[in-house]
Amino acid sequence: MKEINQKEAGTLYIVATPIGNLEDITLRAINVLKNVDLIAAEDTRHTLKLLNHLEISKPLISYHRHNEDVKTDILIKELKQGKQIALVSDAGTPGICDPGEEVIKKCIEEEIKIVPIPGACAMINALICSGLDTKEFLFMGFLPLNKKNRKEKLKEIKNETKTIILYEAPHKLEATLKDLKEILENRKIVLARELTKIHEEYIRENLDVLIEKAKDIKGEMVLIIEGAKKKEDNHLMDLSLEEHYAYYEKQGLSKKDIIKQIAKDRNVNKNEIYQKFI
Ligand code: SAM
Repeated sequence: MKEINQKEAGTLYIVATPIGNLEDITLRAINVLKNVDLIAAEDTRHTLKLLNHLEISKPLISYHRHNEDVKTDILIKELKQGKQIALVSDAGTPGICDPGEEVIKKCIEEEIKIVPIPGACAMINALICSGLDTKEFLFMGFLPLNKKNRKEKLKEIKNETKTIILYEAPHKLEATLKDLKEILENRKIVLARELTKIHEEYIRENLDVLIEKAKDIKGEMVLIIEGAKKKEDNHLMDLSLEEHYAYYEKQGLSKKDIIKQIAKDRNVNKNEIYQKFI
């Protein structure tokens, strides 16, 4: 595989790196890292560990949130001189809650070629194993730190019917879950933690149960939250339990299926509904 053509003008390769398991680097990523002139890294010390593991030795330049402006200009200059550059972040896909956006926008402006080298991304892997709806989703990255702004942001998505994906840090988990419960109300949530690592785990609960467990949950995590019920399903919540039952009975569902469906609509355990109807 000959990825790099040295005769071409400079290209910026956006290279995804592992999010925990060093085996999650693609052959193409290795090839690009081996052949570029320069690697722009979020944290050069961190990237050096990966490069040492891959037995690659390359000049590194730091490119992180706090020097994006200055380093963008330097990288653009090098690219214009025909340099082949790889951009990597500490983990996963650059530009996804990681630096990258600035230099990518500037490359487009300057008509410099950019090439993605796909690989690990925490939110995609959390979503696909969540068991929640993957057809449509909304990725929101980290919620604002400020409590007021965080709540405002959540109010904006109160009626969002798509699956919602958030990144969160363990020390803020409990507060975030409480805000989610207050504004989005109780609904299904999946916490995917330590993806691709030894302690990888998926905790599939309702928000109220997860809040109880939050204090003991550590590690890197992604939250995948069920979207709001669609309008046509929403009216069911205004019905009494008996009316809700009658609604499905009219549709010819069996008693077992009615109970299952009501539990699903109301986000409660089906035994709870079953007890009401025996
Ligand atoms: N660029 C990265 C990506 O492609 O996913 C995301 C970088 S962001 C600064 C770091 C956040 O991603 C963590 O706080 C966590 O929410 C999530 N994350 C990264 N690695 C993870 C992992 N192995 N398991 C679960 N979440 C992870």
